[in-house]
Amino acid sequence: MNLAAPDTGAAGAPLPRGERPGPSGLPRLLPSAGERLVDLGAHLDRFGPLPPLARLRVRRDHHPLIGMVERAGLTGRGGGGFPTARKLAAVAAQRGAAVVVVNAVEAEPVSAKDKTLCGLVPHLVLDGASAAAEAVGARRIVVVAHPTVVTTLRDAVRGRAGRDLDDVPIEVVTAADHFVAGEESAVVNWIEHGSSVPTSSPRRPFEEGVERRPTLINNAETLAHVALIARYGEDWFRSLGTDAEPGTILVTARGAVTRPGVYEAALGTAISDVVRAAGGPVGTPSAFLVGGYFGTWIEAAVAHAPFSREGLGPHGASVGAGLLLAMPSSCCGVVETARLVRYLAGQSAGQCGPCVFGLRAISDELVRVARREASPESLSKLRRWLGEVEGRGACAHPDGVVRLVRSALTVFGDEIERHMSGGCGARHPEQSALGLPSVRSL
Ligand code: SF4
Repeated sequence: MNLAAPDTGAAGAPLPRGERPGPSGLPRLLPSAGERLVDLGAHLDRFGPLPPLARLRVRRDHHPLIGMVERAGLTGRGGGGFPTARKLAAVAAQRGAAVVVVNAVEAEPVSAKDKTLCGLVPHLVLDGASAAAEAVGARRIVVVAHPTVVTTLRDAVRGRAGRDLDDVPIEVVTAADHFVAGEESAVVNWIEHGSSVPTSSPRRPFEEGVERRPTLINNAETLAHVALIARYGEDWFRSLGTDAEPGTILVTARGAVTRPGVYEAALGTAISDVVRAAGGPVGTPSAFLVGGYFGTWIEAAVAHAPFSREGLGPHGASVGAGLLLAMPSSCCGVVETARLVRYLAGQSAGQCGPCVFGLRAISDELVRVARREASPESLSKLRRWLGEVEGRGACAHPDGVVRLVRSALTVFGDEIERHMSGGCGARHPEQSALGLPSVRSL
């Protein structure tokens, strides 16, 4: 957890590849507890500049940083969990100058990890973008950032000017503020055309993205890890986490925890230990939503499960974007899920029929269940519609909702039975107990 102060290691003259001693514990990414914005001076004191390796101009598909990231086993921290080295290599293998896009959109309303990272340690994110730009042969870096951290990032970029820290110019763009704005094709569309809806172009961004150039799109946290791997090497990165999933992850802990916030944990840390780092549970959570709004409900009884893809897989879940919501036992999972699905149905970009009409139908039926107005066919209709919507969108938005609802039907099976028979006695407050977006009361 992020309670230990980092051992900052030696700053100053850069050491050869991977030989700079790295911090031995946690946190790696976040500043120590209570520390505020880490400005450029403090950043350089703590981490030193990027090593020469990260600024090498070599045949880009042979750039040593890509090999280091591959051996480190870093995977994307934005939700997809894709191997970062494969993304880097795919862009580096294309012809022509590339573009690097830092995805700091963080459109999930209760997720805060990218905003925290960009707001507190913006130079670590920018270092990662710079290093990645060298590795893939980019000539432009665009940071697409949540509105709350744009000023901090722009100030950070200005502060680096004339300091010989970046070989590739960096610009910061304010992200659109809606749920699907962080989807990769939507980010490209936003930079190019000012429209933040996903597109279904058969050409993927790594082949043809911004300016029709090969485009690397990485989450802000992923790039911050790249900046540390470039300094300290793959063995250091793998010294925390599991063999299959090395490194640390930022977790946004919400709901029934004493100190909601962003915590850094080694991958594979038990959910219950993450909750403990967040001050412990408030009461006895009745379930956890893991991964994000597109995530999966899991039963409270599996709080011992490791927070990792491998640990959550047997429960049908994944770490996703690092969200961990603890459901207060006084609240009703059916009502909270209905609220969440109504919000998500309203966030459809309005392009694909199954997404627009299917999610609305699913949401309306779930609301009927939550209000105890369901018909005997409600559950079979819901299950049928979930199957009809799955895989039918131009982006993963409908699939995320399908996953969420299916997990709710399993984990909250008893509550659903009570709703179907009119007997649920849980508190249904006007505001979501989980801090879910305010939607019209159910
Ligand atoms: S699936 Fe939904 S959110 Fe995605 S592009 Fe289609 S309409 Fe938009």
